[in-house]
Amino acid sequence: MSVIDEALSANATIANEYDPGRGKPPAPRLAIVTCMDPRLTDIEQMLDLAHGDADVIRNAGTVIDDDSVRSLVVSTRLLASREIMIINHTDCGMLRFTDGELEARLRKETGKAPIAPAKFYSFTDAEANTREQIQKARSHPWISPDVPVRGFVFDVSTGRLSEVFPDGQTVVG
Ligand SMILES: [Zn+2]
Repeated sequence: MSVIDEALSANATIANEYDPGRGKPPAPRLAIVTCMDPRLTDIEQMLDLAHGDADVIRNAGTVIDDDSVRSLVVSTRLLASREIMIINHTDCGMLRFTDGELEARLRKETGKAPIAPAKFYSFTDAEANTREQIQKARSHPWISPDVPVRGFVFDVSTGRLSEVFPDGQTVVG
C-alpha cells in the first residue's frame, strides 16, 4: 500500500474523533516561516501555540522568496498576524550541497534543463542565512514596519531556539 493510501485509511478512523470546533475561521496572531523538514512539523507545540494561533509557511531551507512573501503579505495584511517569526534550524538539508552541485546532478540524472527553479537557496551558515531572510522580509514594502520580524535557529538536538539578531548577535535560548 502506498503511504498516501495508508494515510487515507487512517484518516477515515481518526476523523471520528475530530473536534468540529476546529473548523471555525482562524484568527492567527503570528506568521511563522520555517523549513519543510519533518523535525519542524511540531514547531507550534514547541512554542506552546494554540491551534489556530499561527500561519505556518514552510519551504525547503526557510527562504523568504516570492512565494513565502506572498503568504506573509496575506497573513499580516488580510488576516490577523501581528508578528513574523523566521525559524531556520541546525542540520538543514540545504546545508549539504551548493545550488550548482544540485543543478548539475539533476541535469545529469534527467538530461534536461528546465526554466525553473532559478535558485535552490542552499546555504552554508544557518545564522547568516537567517539574517538574510530577516532583511528580505523587513525590506518588503507591503510588510508593515509595525510588524516585528524576528529570526531564530531551532536546534534539532536540543529543541531550543537561538535568536539571531540583524546586527550579528545570536542569543542562545
Ligand atoms: Zn531544513
